[in-house]
This record gives sequence, structure tokens and C-alpha cells, in this order.
Amino acid sequence: MPLNRSKKKTPMPTQKPEVRRRNFNEVALGYSEEEAVSEAQRCLQCKKPGCVEGCPVQVQIPQFIKRIAERDFEGAIKIIKETNSLPAICGRVCPQETQCEKNCVLGKVGEPVAIGRLERFAADWERAKGIHPPVIPKKLGKKVAIIGSGPAGLACAGDLAKLGYDVTIFEALHKPGGVLVYGIPEFRLPKIIVEQEVEFIQQLGVEIKTNMVMGKVLTIDDLFEMGYEAVFIGTGAGLPKFMGIPGENYLDVYSANEFLTRINLMKAYSFPNTDTPIKVGKKVAVIGGGNVAMDAARSAIRMGADEVHIVYRRSEEEMPARKEEFENAKEEGIIFDFLTNPVRIIGNENGWVKGIECIRMELGEPDASGRRRPVPIMGSEFIMDVETVVIAIGTGPNPLLTKPLKA
Ligand code: SF4
Repeated sequence: MPLNRSKKKTPMPTQKPEVRRRNFNEVALGYSEEEAVSEAQRCLQCKKPGCVEGCPVQVQIPQFIKRIAERDFEGAIKIIKETNSLPAICGRVCPQETQCEKNCVLGKVGEPVAIGRLERFAADWERAKGIHPPVIPKKLGKKVAIIGSGPAGLACAGDLAKLGYDVTIFEALHKPGGVLVYGIPEFRLPKIIVEQEVEFIQQLGVEIKTNMVMGKVLTIDDLFEMGYEAVFIGTGAGLPKFMGIPGENYLDVYSANEFLTRINLMKAYSFPNTDTPIKVGKKVAVIGGGNVAMDAARSAIRMGADEVHIVYRRSEEEMPARKEEFENAKEEGIIFDFLTNPVRIIGNENGWVKGIECIRMELGEPDASGRRRPVPIMGSEFIMDVETVVIAIGTGPNPLLTKPLKA
């Protein structure tokens, strides 16, 4: 029987909202040893653990949690790393609530075991003690190329290196990490964590070549000619979508990609100590309801905006963002305008944004996504005064490798 019978997860200590809304330091502070052991003692050690089925890389969850409950933290991280080379990242930003934790049996009567928080604890414990260099496997003499050093590329590289392949990652940007460094903000995933997990992948023997825009610098045919026997394309979704409404070309209308890349990867929050500036007005509207929209809104408030709105055309119930991120955003003072859709962006005579015209929506019948379709309420148009607009309605794959190149 578990020693901790609480129906709720052990709370995660966090920075207070009124403090964190003005800094870029990590919001969640991580479990202490006592908190981790206590949370691990909630696990029932199921014979048929649903949590493992929900994990895309099949981490042996009950086994590592048992080690934490026994205070064998080294044993815990060893088990995690058998199948997951990026535990400090996954423990922080994996959507556990729709994967392992969704399948946890405790979720039927209360909250599931905080699997992600325990994974993060084990990874952070190891980092604090000093990560042991991994055992380098015997080489097979076969070369694999990976395009993109985001989570997919890094995970693939780690697994192939452990099997003995010679792996080279080709990264378009000047730093490895993909969306982990350009998209996810420092306050959710500190860059130092990404750097250390990338170092671990390199210690496995993986070579990373940066500033390699594949499709431009080299083609896939070039890679095969260079002796690579397989190519994994993990280029992510770096092409922003726009709404196609009038005014999207006004100054201070950003795609969330550009907005977050400037702030995260290029550290615009430290400008002029860094090279990349960003202009964020006092009133900001972020269009969209996913995690990227939450990241953009929470970044805007940290950049000094007084008022940040999330404008989302459906209701709270349909919003795709993680619940935890939504709650964090609300605590930090983000204003949510549900059932509201922009119809045009308004600019001044110099081309700068001064507002958006929106229309109120109501929910109709479910659409192909299964969510109720938002329908405009005619005559409900109104103007929202804002100085900055960030569009976070989704992204598509980078076209360089998916469309034929022009001669
Ligand atoms: Fe533990 Fe939940 Fe997994 Fe069961 S399903 S082993 S209780 S984490």
C-alpha cells in the first residue's frame, strides 16, 4: 500500500505570481528531496501500469518512482535514461496530463501521481551532483544524418547513438535545441537545462553542425552522397500561420515565432546588452488559445506591458493550452477574451498598430475537430485599443525540405 494516501499531488513550489510576472526566471522551483519522496509514495506500483502505456518513450515509470520512494535517486535517473535522454526537458515541458498522467490509475479517484515533477526531480538531482558521462556503445560503422536539433532530432540522435550509429545533427540556427531554445520561454524551460541535455547527447558521440540550413546549404541527396545511409527529418513547425485579415502587415504585428525567438533565443529582454531588440507596447493582444499563445502573453507581461489580452474565438472549454499554463497566465494577470475573433487590425498614418476590430462569437455545432464551431454574432463588433499584436494561431512545417527548390 502507498505510504502517502493523499488524493492530491504534492504541490510544486513556485515563484509568487506578483514577483515572477516581471522576471524571466523559472516559475516552478522543483521538489525538495522530502517532497519528491512523499509524492513517490503515492504510487500504487501497479502490475499493469497504464502510465507506461501513455509514455511515448516507454519510461519504466513505476520502477523509477519506487527508487525515489526508497531515496535511491541515482537508481531512479538511471532507469529514466535507459529510454529517455532528455529527462530534465521532458519533466518540465512534456504534456504529461494527456500522456502518462492521463493513464495513471490514481486519476480515477483524485489527482494522478505527479510523474513529470518526479522525472524533473530525478534529472535535477543528477545535474546537481554532476552527470556521469554515459557509456559509449560499440560503433556499428553506419552513418545517420538528422535534420533539426529540436526535441525530435535530439531524442532520435540519443537513441541511435546508444545503438552504436554515427550520428550527425544538422541545425539551421546558430544554437542547438530548436523550439526548446527559440520557442519555449526561459521561465518554463531555462536554456541552461537544454544546453546540459544537448551536452549529454554529444557525450554519447553525436556531432552537431549548426548554421546548416538544409535544403539550401546541402540537399538530402548530398547527404546520401556523403555516406549517410539514413536521414531523419525533424525540422518541426517553424512556419507561422496568419489569419488573412486586413492589417496584418502593420508595424508591431508579430508572428508568435518571431516574437518568442527575439525574446528567447536572442534574449531581447537583455537588450542593449544583447544584439536583438523588440518593441512591446503597453497594451498587447495575443491571438490564439494554445501553449504558444500563453508563452507569448506571459513573455509580453515580463517585457513590461501593462495589459495583455488573449483573444480566443472559442470558449475556455475548447482552449488547447495546458491547464497549468492557463492557470499560471491568469495568476500573472493575463486577461482572457473568450469567444472573440479579430476581423481587422487598425493602424495609424505611420503604419503602426493602434487597435484591432473584433467580433463576439457564440458556439454552434461541433466541427471536424470535435469542438463546437464558433459562429460570429452579427452587429457585435467592437474596437480593442492595443499597440502590439502577436498572432499565435498555429504553425506549419518549414517548406525548405517539403517543397521542391526553385532552380
Ligand atoms: Fe504509479 Fe499511477 Fe503508474 Fe500506477 S499508473 S504505477 S499509480 S504512476
